[in-house]
Amino acid sequence: MASPVSVVQKVQSVNPATGEVLAEFDSASRAEVQATVARAREASHAWQQLEVGERARYLLRLKEALYTRRDEVAALITREAGKPKVEAVVGEVMVVLDTLEYFAHHGAEFLAPQPVPHHNLAVRFKRGRLMYEPHGVIGIISPSNYPLNIPFGEMAPALVAGNTVVLKPSEFTPQIGLEIRDLCEAAGLPSGVVNVLVGDGSTGGALVDSAIDKLIFTGSVPTGKRIQTLAAERLLPTVLELGGKDPMIVCADADLETASSGAVWGAFTNAGQACLSVERLYVARSVADHFTELCVAKTRRLRLGAGDDPSTDVGPLIRPRQVAIIEDHVTDALAKGAQVITGGRRPDLPGFFYEPTILTGVNHSMRVMRQETFGPVLPILAVESEEEAVAFANDSEFGLSASVWTRDSALGDRLARQLHAGAVMVNDCISYFGVCEAPHGGIKASGIGRSRSRLGLHEMVRVKYVDVDLVPRLPKLWWFKYGAKAKKMMDGFLEFLFAPTVTRRVLGSLKMVVNIGRKL
Ligand code: NAD
Repeated sequence: MASPVSVVQKVQSVNPATGEVLAEFDSASRAEVQATVARAREASHAWQQLEVGERARYLLRLKEALYTRRDEVAALITREAGKPKVEAVVGEVMVVLDTLEYFAHHGAEFLAPQPVPHHNLAVRFKRGRLMYEPHGVIGIISPSNYPLNIPFGEMAPALVAGNTVVLKPSEFTPQIGLEIRDLCEAAGLPSGVVNVLVGDGSTGGALVDSAIDKLIFTGSVPTGKRIQTLAAERLLPTVLELGGKDPMIVCADADLETASSGAVWGAFTNAGQACLSVERLYVARSVADHFTELCVAKTRRLRLGAGDDPSTDVGPLIRPRQVAIIEDHVTDALAKGAQVITGGRRPDLPGFFYEPTILTGVNHSMRVMRQETFGPVLPILAVESEEEAVAFANDSEFGLSASVWTRDSALGDRLARQLHAGAVMVNDCISYFGVCEAPHGGIKASGIGRSRSRLGLHEMVRVKYVDVDLVPRLPKLWWFKYGAKAKKMMDGFLEFLFAPTVTRRVLGSLKMVVNIGRKL
């Protein structure tokens, strides 16, 4: 019988603006994944022995390496992920520079042991503290839409906390993944501390199934569910940053000029391929017509084209399959009574484009209002009241983020509290993703756990509680030698702590003292 031949999977780097194949790579095999994780494990021993400040200095060197190569890196992002240069610079390079600096500057503070004072008298002679220890090897699986920003957003806290990293970038952006590896080399990171494995979903699956200590996954809900099922087999801890269907609520008193610009940017930046894209818009009926006209006029002025053309506002979709999903959502909406006000078709361009599209007459029976479109489509629904807007916004399996637009800060605050989401912005959208202090993560199908900020860094550590007794020679009252006296003593102590009147507390303390000596 012939021996089985293992077929090497290939991943291609494609320019989505033209469809041109830029390069082709072998997907890392299961054996390579395992060997890489072993290398990362080996490197983790020395890496976690370094002072936090030393690791922070490496992050600053990484920042310098990226700063030096920022133009080439931005150009590569535009070439492989299609986004306009400005978005590559602002939404990727700039955010990463800031993230590296933030964790370099705050790592030691966030990782410092935290005292845990005890309120109960019975344990006042103990001192507790929380210690933060690295997991070891962190696996990171990242998506195609923010191919630099997202991996670095996970790597920076993982590294400063003392973990080594194995990164599996999206199969649609392998060259950017390799650029991350090269930047780490240029920054002089010790060998094995950051490892990049190019490959598709099967490489990702092998990473989940490897000896990593924690997985940080960012991607779609279906992939997240598959990964969580696999991870459950060995109780691998995970953070899942998944898809969204973010609502935007425009109240009657909103500044419509600003809100319409925000809506158009929120729906069409990165060609609608942001997990935080505005995917549904609910506007007060009294201002809906005027607001929609503003959005339509601003959308029609957007220039669609290749990201390396400086005049381009909206680039191509990264994956050709995404164009078919967008078409399906628009076709379904039209069949159920929606109207296309602008866009609604593929333009006459090479590559994977779809025109920025505004739909009205939509309702929640349509896929475009329920499933993640992940493309340049803005469905607008007029509502009678803020309560109705919130009810619609919360009528979703997703719960990533939301935005509220109003001049009334009390109203903004009230609606923010009522919305089911991991984050709510008032009078802006998406941009909190670039705020290093802001935690990111969803509820419901949008994910589990948090990334970025102090909370994201705490996902990268194991919390160990350490408790030190300050009177080690004193036997504890709750230890053995039970009996009637011990019971009375403990009754007395309980009354002393919790009885409703001072008198009964005093009596309780006497009961405790009288019986205490007989117990010891
Ligand atoms: P995707 O789920 O198709 O792929 C994400 C990553 O998972 C890729 O690296 C892929 O190779 C890998 N993968 C695929 N199958 C796998 C498997 N069985 N086991 C392990 N790994 C596997 O997502 P995408 O199209 O690259 O990204 C778009 C999705 O990501 C959208 O749903 C978007 O909302 C979401 N996203 C979420 C966030 C967030 O922070 N919540 C950020 C960006 C993107």
